[in-house]
Amino acid sequence: MRNVVLAIFFLTMVSLVALAQAPSPSTPAAVPPKPAATPAVPSFDLTAMDKTIDPCVDFYKYACGGWMAKNPVPPDQARWGRFDELQERNRDILHDILDKAAAPNPKRSAVLQKIGDYYASCMDESRANALGAKPLEPELKQVAAIASKQEMINTIAHLQLQGVSVLFNFYPRPDLHSASDMIAFVDQGGLGLPDRDYYLKDDAKSAETRAKYLEHMQKMFELAGDKPEQASSEAKAVMSIETALAKASMDRTERRVPKNLDHKMTTQELQALAPNFDFPQFFSEVNAPSFTALNVTVPEFFKQVNAQIADVPLADWKTYLRWHVVHEMAPVLSNSFVDENFRFYQQYLGGQKELQPRWKRCVRLTDDELGEALGQPYVDQTFGVEGKQRTLKMVQAIEQSMGEDLKQLPWMTQTTKERAEQKLGMVENKIGYPDKWRDYSKVNIVRDDFVGNTLRAENFESARQVNKISKPVDKTEWGMTPPTVNAYYNPSQNNINFPAGILQPPFYDNNKDDAVNFGAIGSVIGHELTHGFDDAGSRYDGKGDLRDWWTAEDNAEFQKRTGCVADEYSQFVAVDDVHLNGKLTLGENTADNGGVRLSYMSLERQLKEKPVSPIDGFTPEQRFFISYAQVWCQNVTPEQSLLRAKTDPHSPGQYRVKGVVGNMPEFQQAFHCRPDQPMVRENACRVW
Ligand SMILES: [Zn+2]
Repeated sequence: MRNVVLAIFFLTMVSLVALAQAPSPSTPAAVPPKPAATPAVPSFDLTAMDKTIDPCVDFYKYACGGWMAKNPVPPDQARWGRFDELQERNRDILHDILDKAAAPNPKRSAVLQKIGDYYASCMDESRANALGAKPLEPELKQVAAIASKQEMINTIAHLQLQGVSVLFNFYPRPDLHSASDMIAFVDQGGLGLPDRDYYLKDDAKSAETRAKYLEHMQKMFELAGDKPEQASSEAKAVMSIETALAKASMDRTERRVPKNLDHKMTTQELQALAPNFDFPQFFSEVNAPSFTALNVTVPEFFKQVNAQIADVPLADWKTYLRWHVVHEMAPVLSNSFVDENFRFYQQYLGGQKELQPRWKRCVRLTDDELGEALGQPYVDQTFGVEGKQRTLKMVQAIEQSMGEDLKQLPWMTQTTKERAEQKLGMVENKIGYPDKWRDYSKVNIVRDDFVGNTLRAENFESARQVNKISKPVDKTEWGMTPPTVNAYYNPSQNNINFPAGILQPPFYDNNKDDAVNFGAIGSVIGHELTHGFDDAGSRYDGKGDLRDWWTAEDNAEFQKRTGCVADEYSQFVAVDDVHLNGKLTLGENTADNGGVRLSYMSLERQLKEKPVSPIDGFTPEQRFFISYAQVWCQNVTPEQSLLRAKTDPHSPGQYRVKGVVGNMPEFQQAFHCRPDQPMVRENACRVW
């Protein structure tokens, strides 16, 4: 199931990594034995290295070659790296928490009852299989009963509240020009494939994907009870609607430019744009608080929706809605649905060989649906006040470096520098977990109703989101759950956020020297901070408003310098003959380059006061770069590499390393590289 909340984040949050796609439930009956305590993931790992490689020739292989040879992608994953190892360790901790919480015990706290019973209901595979397609019935009946295009609006509203993403997305977000006010957004959406390009590109692979998608839809319709011939024509009807929506959708790269999504208008203006869709009725049906203006991110998309409503017969619309009900609910249904859903999305598109065992999928779903309940025992077990203090100290050191960096930046005039310093001074940070936990007491969770539990949790979350409209923005809220191995910058709030899940080895290790910690978590902190000043973040001011604070001269220089980064990464090959999209990944690459530099500056400042001798035969500077590189050791299936090249704004691990070190004379000095060696870029790029 997809939370409405997810829709928000692709607009507001800039994360450190895109995590693997949400798994989708099925088979293995028995819970495998798990180790009593999963060991920590080692930081600065000498055995991960391949010292036969010259660091100036291929620094990634030098730092990660040993690890890569020993760590092929496990069959139930599509990518396997240090992030994933840590995520797996966190999952073991959560597994243990949930196993204990699931044991029936009248003395359980309210929080443990929610997560324990949700998890228990999810683990009840035989019940899911006995129910088969039955849990779909209420939703499918409602779709079948639609008698007119006007009536369709109520069902679309109902489905969106259940987490079924149909036709477009509706969510709250800070007003782009007044970031403390939450307003309504309507946005493109309603596709079943991961990107618009899959519908529109002419190459052989895209054509194959469309053929496979048609087959997949047909199978799912058959599982829902339709005859093969009917299912086949239904699949074609869905493809035709989604292709029309894809044509009017803005592509990912264009969506990176904030002003492209900035179209505030009155509700009357929206209605004039798409008179065939009764938006006032829709807003009333989702129980939105009253409002008179909203942001229409992609007006062209809604013109197309309008045309489609008129042109497509009602029967085809009902087929489209029917498809999305089956599609979104597949992960919580019987194994036949789960397996077919896995086969197309995770296996064919994602390159994952095997479905994850049920307990892993259930841990993930509990985190998705009740994340701030599950986060409470997780934080109690893993994260203390001390962890918060240590991280805060590093954040302050990195912020100080950014201040120094701005002062000495050779290309920026004084006027813009002062405004950048002002923005930097307004950055807030959140570390570990929320001060106030979300209250799930209104969500009824019972042991024997997995689908019902999930739908109630989805409805609760949708209502919570919709209720934010026309209210002040709550900056204390978190966009990631505490066990998440990730971090993010929120441009409209101008804050950096570090969940407890990432504040441990190999990112932060209390037993290691500062060079190692600055290389890993320090670079992560610097990365998030730099997002405030990347191609997109730099368009917002310190309050989070979209406002141009750049002089024309500095802006031209900024475009030139980010253009250098875009060109650099466009040369990297993702898989076969597919290159990275340098513009899609520009924000992340800018953040990587800036982040490592800021963290390096912090280390150097500290070493000046307190010099450190080599450890394990490496200088502190060498340890810094090796530690940074080792965070990105990973193996990826070719299918996953292709999927990410098309959809992920982050570069693959090897280029997050090579792209950065090639731009840094500090790296070349640390490893004594000659100017003609591969890890030395002739025209090094530098933005920050
Ligand atoms: Zn990032």
